[in-house]
Amino acid sequence: MAKKLFEELQKTLDEPVIVIFASAKIGLWKDEVDLSHVAATHFYLNHKHHSMKKIRKRLQDPIFSQEITTGIKQKQIKQLDIAQIKQLQPQSMELEVISHVVIKYVDDKAAWFFRLCTNCKNEVVHETRNYICKLCKRIIPHPEKRFRVSIVAADSTGGMEF
Ligand SMILES: [Zn+2]
Repeated sequence: MAKKLFEELQKTLDEPVIVIFASAKIGLWKDEVDLSHVAATHFYLNHKHHSMKKIRKRLQDPIFSQEITTGIKQKQIKQLDIAQIKQLQPQSMELEVISHVVIKYVDDKAAWFFRLCTNCKNEVVHETRNYICKLCKRIIPHPEKRFRVSIVAADSTGGMEF
């Protein structure tokens, strides 16, 4: 779906592009909106629906546009090399960085996903045939799944496991 959406967004479309996702699973992940698609998910770009005409008309109102855009967080993401990443302190645990590296090795023996608590998004553990969130102290019957691929990567300053 991401590939198809990307292709569709390359086409010439009226700006701003208004996207409707139908049957998608919307949640929050690290204070950002997270969109997971389910089997029945569809997307519509600049759909010809009367409600879209209303939204587009409202977007022409500068006050309405400003209210929407000021609500969007502009996150500054630093670019660090591996030596700089290795020097980060524990309080930087959730810092997001960009790094240009060469992937040396993909661990294909490790699981390619992990399970998350649907409430707190912490990783759950599998105990006595149940998934348990240690933070929420409860059984999570249907935890969410997230991709996690273990790799070893390097740049000119060194290498490390991600
Ligand atoms: Zn939890």
